[in-house]
Amino acid sequence: MTLGEISKKTALRLKETGIENPLLDSDIIITSVLDIERYKLVSDRDRVLTEDQIKAIEKCVLRRLKFEPVAYITGVKEFYSIEFEVNKDVLIPRPETELLVDMAIYWGGNGARVLDLCTGSGAIAVVLKHSRPDLDVYASDLSEKALKLAKKNAAEILGSKKINFVHGDLFIPFKGEKFNLIVSNPPYVDADLQGKLQKEIDFEPAMALFAGNKGTDIIKKIIEDSVDHLEDKGVLLLEIGSDQHDFVHAVGEKCGFTVSILNDYAGFPRVATLKK
Ligand code: GLN
Repeated sequence: MTLGEISKKTALRLKETGIENPLLDSDIIITSVLDIERYKLVSDRDRVLTEDQIKAIEKCVLRRLKFEPVAYITGVKEFYSIEFEVNKDVLIPRPETELLVDMAIYWGGNGARVLDLCTGSGAIAVVLKHSRPDLDVYASDLSEKALKLAKKNAAEILGSKKINFVHGDLFIPFKGEKFNLIVSNPPYVDADLQGKLQKEIDFEPAMALFAGNKGTDIIKKIIEDSVDHLEDKGVLLLEIGSDQHDFVHAVGEKCGFTVSILNDYAGFPRVATLKK
């Protein structure tokens, strides 16, 4: 079988199963397995594949046909133009979270002490330190497995630039500590929707996605506890669900914050800025 043939066949199989971007996913899987650039799918389409290569591609395609996200199959996901290693212990970084990073780069003063809560793969913290080496970045997660991967990503991407990784539940390990900037993409999806969303979501860690009370429990806790963990004029940046706009305004203002919410590129309310 040639590269062109397997490419066409794979895209068709993914399409027939109802995969949303069959062509793109097929391209990503094949180029990842063969470790080739994407243009080769066209320029080398008559290249005959070995049995081993066909088998390796088939193994990955079967995983995608069961709706496993492409990023878990290839083990990588690009975020802010940087390649992160991902696995089933962490949420796959989403493009809309890049807006949260943009805001953090904007709000972080020179040398600011920054905390990234629920760091997962480390995407936010690592990109922040990468873009702004002057920042003193702390990153924490409740999941030890996630932290292990975040540390690996930090070492690969940042080299000698260091992030302070801390294991623990939200602010518990930071008793008495204050930051200039707190950022978080916490679990905010309504727990009642677990198992009812796209099949791909079922492969991601539930603890990274779902929260009680229509997804607001953890967001509420972070806002309330940030009051004691922000320096004067400190800022809390939170990624939120598109229907949590009013809730975040209400809780934030009750805690004495000035709240503003930015829409993501798809036009949904996504990043809340809470100023002390
Ligand atoms: N944006 C993600 C989604 O809709 C949720 C991320 C999160 O809960 N922090 O799948």
